[in-house]
Amino acid sequence: MRVDFQHCSSIKIGSSVEAAVISDRGFDPSGFFVVGAACNLLVSPAPPPIAILDRSFDYLRLENEVLIAGGKTPSGRIVSLCKKADLGGLEFLSGLPGSVGGLIAMNAGLKDACVFDRLLWVDFGRGRIASGEIASGYRFAKLQGVVFEAAFRLAKGFDRALEASLLAVRASQPKEPSAGSCFKNPSGDYAGRLIEAVGLRGARRGGASFSQKHANFLVNLGGASFDDAIWLIDEAKRRVMESFNIALELEIKIV
Ligand SMILES: Cc1cc2nc3c(=O)[nH]c(=O)nc-3n(C[C@H](O)[C@H](O)[C@H](O)COP(=O)(O)OP(=O)(O)OC[C@H]3O[C@@H](n4cnc5c(N)ncnc54)[C@H](O)[C@@H]3O)c2cc1C
Repeated sequence: MRVDFQHCSSIKIGSSVEAAVISDRGFDPSGFFVVGAACNLLVSPAPPPIAILDRSFDYLRLENEVLIAGGKTPSGRIVSLCKKADLGGLEFLSGLPGSVGGLIAMNAGLKDACVFDRLLWVDFGRGRIASGEIASGYRFAKLQGVVFEAAFRLAKGFDRALEASLLAVRASQPKEPSAGSCFKNPSGDYAGRLIEAVGLRGARRGGASFSQKHANFLVNLGGASFDDAIWLIDEAKRRVMESFNIALELEIKIV
């Protein structure tokens, strides 16, 4: 299957490559980089072999207050079903783009909620592994393979007010293509504050820029190349190290 990351990645950067399609749970991912919805990726002109789940892994099923989802299911479908079924716990996915596999791999979330708070188990193709058996942390999870299916614990009552407030916060985020936050927040500080403090808020290289609106969003203003984005990333790392002796850690994945 042909995948053009310039079109299908959220930051609209990358090349067009032939990707392996994963159609069954026996797939051996060694040697492949597994791509979900490509909302957290910066893909180089020469990426490693890419593999993508096929559409049969885009499904949702409710078993009482447990949501079972295929690895390719988009976050938006999860929120819609939770709203319809009046079940809460995953409201924080409102406006947070990604597929179930990517959400788990990144332990995606907000300041006070993340995927592992609600994750019950994951099927990597060899049966159910309890979430407690999977090492995880801030925007991090040590996965044991491809996420084919996962289950989340819900609770009665979808919180519409919470959803509305989260969507209002999203509305103030940069509108240009991005991959969300570029760097993780160092403990006790904010990557955006540090980027601004070293004079890189709004800084531009070619078509790439650290957003004027939110300095930790690396945005594509139009025609940004992989090299433009990498230049800004390296510059931010260098300046923040020089000024604050802090090593910024990437949240986005360079492929
Ligand atoms: C506008 C915008 C706002 C965002 N806001 C937030 C936010 O508030 N909080 C937050 O945490 N993130 C945020 N993000 C980042 C992104 O939404 C999350 O990281 C999301 O979890 C990425 O999911 P994905 O399916 O796109 O994964 P991808 O970007 O495709 O991949 C990310 C990682 O997941 C792995 N992966 C993907 N699918 C699978 C699978 N099936 N099995 C195993 N590994 C897999 C990949 O190998 C890679 O390491 C934002 C992004 C954008 C564009």
